[in-house]
Amino acid sequence: MKKENLYNLKKMYKDIGQNFLINKNIIKKIINIVKPKKKQTFLEIGCGTGLLTKELYKYTKKIIAIDIDNKLIKFCKKKYKNIKFIKKDILKFNFLNYKKKLRIIGNIPYYISHKIIYKLIKNYKFINDIHILVQKEFANNLIQKIKNKKYSKTTLIINSLFKIKKIMNIKNYFFKPKPKIESTLIKLISNKNKNNIKDINFFIHITNNIFYKKNRKIYNNLKNFINIKELIKHNINPNNRLNKINIKKYYNIVNYIIKKNKNF
Ligand code: SAH
Repeated sequence: MKKENLYNLKKMYKDIGQNFLINKNIIKKIINIVKPKKKQTFLEIGCGTGLLTKELYKYTKKIIAIDIDNKLIKFCKKKYKNIKFIKKDILKFNFLNYKKKLRIIGNIPYYISHKIIYKLIKNYKFINDIHILVQKEFANNLIQKIKNKKYSKTTLIINSLFKIKKIMNIKNYFFKPKPKIESTLIKLISNKNKNNIKDINFFIHITNNIFYKKNRKIYNNLKNFINIKELIKHNINPNNRLNKINIKKYYNIVNYIIKKNKNF
């Protein structure tokens, strides 16, 4: 790659997750997988030096590319005159400002992967699908737990709204500066029936409560919300532990609790 096309790497801050994907073939491959269409609007999280943005721009002009680092945004604005770059913390991004459903893409900063995932989950109504690079272990953890039926709080919450898929691993030498860890591209597609989650914030609140001591019997975890009879009515053995519970039953019971509390 020509020198002038590279941002001065000495200026980067590792503590805000600045490891840029610089391999053009991998970038092209990602965009091929994402299959952007002209009319679709994309939100790119952590656009960095804009290499992924530039490739995306070949397919759609509707891009909101954001990064928290003002220097990078200035650099991108100068280099790619036609693309709209915004300096912003993704955790403060307001989805309400956008009418159309967004497609999310990004080589996201890993130090806040977890927070970004929750931000996206809470705004699921504004989102069509998500293609993000995350730390390999983080991706494996989410996906394995679903396969093995060992649900963590986050897997349960994600699966209530999205189908999650591992697309490919990406070696660390494709990034600059080269991070210690490897990356995985994951895809989250909006789950059409969304397991009928009535209120995502309340759903997250209850799930946090339930998982507070997840090795207790399910009855003990839920006793502030529901009695034994109600559990049995939902085909849940009150003596089981959380990890024995079938995911569909979990959603049913939590939805029931939400209804009861909020009178939907
Ligand atoms: N996608 C880019 C860069 C990935 S590195 C590329 O492949 O070239 C992650 C990027 O996220 C960095 O540019 C970093 O500045 C940015 N970032 C870090 N914290 C952020 C936050 N809270 N909100 C938005 N961007 C953030």
